[in-house]
Amino acid sequence: MIDRYSRQTLFPGIGEEGQKKLGNSSVVIIGCGALGTIIATSLVRAGVGKVRIIDRDFIEYHNLQRQVLFDEEDIKAELPKAIAAERHLKKVNSSIEIEGVVADVNYTNIERLVAGADLILDGLDNLETRFLINDVALKHGIPWIYGGAISSQGMTMTVLPHETACFRCVSPSPTGRGLALTCDTAGVISPAPFIIGSLQTAEAMKILVGAEREINRDLVMINVWEGSFHRIKISPRPDCPACQSRYEFLEAKFGIKTTALCGQNAVQVLNAKVGKLSLDELAARLKPVADVSYNEFMLRFVADNHEMFVFPDGRAILRNTTDESLARGLYAKYIGA
Ligand SMILES: [Zn+2]
Repeated sequence: MIDRYSRQTLFPGIGEEGQKKLGNSSVVIIGCGALGTIIATSLVRAGVGKVRIIDRDFIEYHNLQRQVLFDEEDIKAELPKAIAAERHLKKVNSSIEIEGVVADVNYTNIERLVAGADLILDGLDNLETRFLINDVALKHGIPWIYGGAISSQGMTMTVLPHETACFRCVSPSPTGRGLALTCDTAGVISPAPFIIGSLQTAEAMKILVGAEREINRDLVMINVWEGSFHRIKISPRPDCPACQSRYEFLEAKFGIKTTALCGQNAVQVLNAKVGKLSLDELAARLKPVADVSYNEFMLRFVADNHEMFVFPDGRAILRNTTDESLARGLYAKYIGA
């Protein structure tokens, strides 16, 4: 085992002592897309003792461009991302514990899923669940590392509960955002998530080995196409609900709610954060990736072989299914959360 990590223990920031701490640590990675696969592969190779990887999706061909843990065989075998990641990583490092969990992380299960973790890493593609991670992290005093990447840009920030600013200090309320850009509509090039995932990994190592003073407390923003790197000082906001121990996302005050419509073979998606949605804007955004038709009252689109109807109040109905998790996933992917 000494040999496996020799190049890492030579680095003074880690050393033999740090390596032991990594081996005794437990991390949870939520979301296993581009960011998640970079973080998971790096932390497993670094020898973090327990790595839990949670993701709800299956692998598609357009994921292979940037999601480094997956290959064509995984797609043919129809493996969920969490399981494919677990299988590949167990071949990389058999001396640690690796667990893939196929689940849609939401307010009903997140506390159970992160219980006992020393650190939570964000590999998500939707805002909704990030607010939830922020709540659960602050409530249970677990540090977490936010990361996001889209187009050629990315952002990351480390949240040390009740010490640094939290995610809600930066992004106070999701209400009224209306349309959020997603990778499925704006695109993404791999260096953006690769760099952000790598920065998140470095932060994770510092937290796990207890390198308190080295932890980055700024919001970091990069643009790989411009070659730019910015750090922004963030102060805790005195009126931040999460910092005042009011966990509105964990208590489900905001967020996407789904209801199976009995007898109609359809699921309704309600988004408390979207009061008014411009169907013109949504149509323009969806046209390159979906079959879209709309009028002032309703927008219909077909994507991934599913037919969804969207209304100007942000409500949507997914036809021909009773799968609420699928409906929530499609909503987050195409309409934005
Ligand atoms: Zn806060």
